[in-house]
Amino acid sequence: MGVRGPAPVDDRGLLAEYPFLPGAEVLAEDLAASLRGLLEEPALAPARELGRARVRAALEDPRGTAALPALDRADVGEKFLSFQYARVLLSSLPTPGPIRRWAVYEAKRASARLAGPGAEELLEVADRLGLGFRAEAEAVAVPVVDYVRLAAPIREAAFRLGRQTVRRGRVVVTAGRAARLVEEGIRRQLGEAVPLAPEVVEALRERDGPFLDEIRERLPALPARPAFPAGRIDPEGFPPCVRKMRRTLAEGENLSHAGRFALAAFLHRIGADGETIVDAYRNAPDFEEGITRYQVEHITRHGDGQGYLPPDCETLRTHGLCVREGDPTAPRAPERARDPLCYAPELKSPLTYYRIRARPKPPGEGSGTSAGPATAPSTGRPG
Ligand code: SF4
Repeated sequence: MGVRGPAPVDDRGLLAEYPFLPGAEVLAEDLAASLRGLLEEPALAPARELGRARVRAALEDPRGTAALPALDRADVGEKFLSFQYARVLLSSLPTPGPIRRWAVYEAKRASARLAGPGAEELLEVADRLGLGFRAEAEAVAVPVVDYVRLAAPIREAAFRLGRQTVRRGRVVVTAGRAARLVEEGIRRQLGEAVPLAPEVVEALRERDGPFLDEIRERLPALPARPAFPAGRIDPEGFPPCVRKMRRTLAEGENLSHAGRFALAAFLHRIGADGETIVDAYRNAPDFEEGITRYQVEHITRHGDGQGYLPPDCETLRTHGLCVREGDPTAPRAPERARDPLCYAPELKSPLTYYRIRARPKPPGEGSGTSAGPATAPSTGRPG
């Protein structure tokens, strides 16, 4: 695909498609719609309903691939106001999970459009976001500083700086990859709740209490369901197999499907909260936050929040995930278990190992429920 410089784009249309861009407020001014009006005006009911539809779509389609016909049909004012309504609704919730899920959805929608034929829109949007992208022959040249910042959370090996062509302080990428970088910037921006005055939160609750309850029901804060006494979890008590799984992900290497499932189920059962579990996958090569959250929820909400039981040692052995095997006299590898506990007849499960070895601190000691430094984000597939 040839990449040309930015071309004139219909400004109102562009702002409606990318309502997070600076200056998009002008659409609301045209409609004489204030935040208060957005909450109260009967005439703006269709925009509010479309805002709820955007939120529902984000819950149901974390990849942002499904069409939302009502949004496609809406006029520019409704598109903008529905976006704003979705954002304030989610900002009024006490936990960040829902707004982060929605941010992934909106960013993916935008990215799909930006990656379409012709790069004029991509360059225009990047420019309005303050990114110094520019067309260069058949590609897009991204300032190294922007590239490093935007690509940092992207764990696909193809995005590593060392694999890029760098010319005169710019990383030269395809338009598709440039769109992926912009997606990352949008996701981060939208994932932060906007500050709301208490009376606005109250008004939202009054107007949309049942809908907000529905969101919380469908996407509660990822639950912590300790099978152990409440307290800080103790990474020192993790069995060798779990340490190896975490290290594999933290180092940006691929972990098998079975390993991802086992790790999420184990962390949940020992009391790690949902955010900590999601974080454990962040360095995985194919990490996608929305997908990971979805799958972690699936694992941790099973059985009314009890979560799936992590596989026992025998099952882990059949998947090649037990690290006790091998020659115990061989040079020590960090993950190779020399721990006699792994050879004890009563040791049937990593949970039993943890139960014996962990020394969780009581609440109030330490700084929280952290699984430690190996919690670097991941892939789309914990399970
Ligand atoms: S024996 Fe069990 S706890 Fe120990 S490394 Fe193997 S699977 Fe993990």
